[in-house]
Amino acid sequence: MQNHQPTEIRRLSQSLSIEWKNGLRSEIPYRILREKCPCARCSAMKQEKDPFQLLPSEDYWKNLHLVGIQPVGRYAVQLQWSDGHKTGIYTFSFLYELSTDTHQDVSSNNATTK
Ligand SMILES: [Zn+2]
Repeated sequence: MQNHQPTEIRRLSQSLSIEWKNGLRSEIPYRILREKCPCARCSAMKQEKDPFQLLPSEDYWKNLHLVGIQPVGRYAVQLQWSDGHKTGIYTFSFLYELSTDTHQDVSSNNATTK
């Protein structure tokens, strides 16, 4: 199943811009991408929920950006971050899911006003 295929993936200064085959365009902030990193290390850290865990500072997030995007088969990309982290493999359907959360940022007709 290839429901969500990107036609173009571009790196912006603070976010990843993806154009989808269905015509949607999404922009996913790097911070969200990284916080949702699906790799084993990051998911283990999220599950531990240690309140004393050192959280990255605002500066860290501001400076964090993508240095590389490697295609993984036809279904995913591996994102390489400026801090050296590169074990997260993001499937296209996962990216699409993430971008539906941020759609109101890019679409001008926001029907979902709170
Ligand atoms: Zn990770």
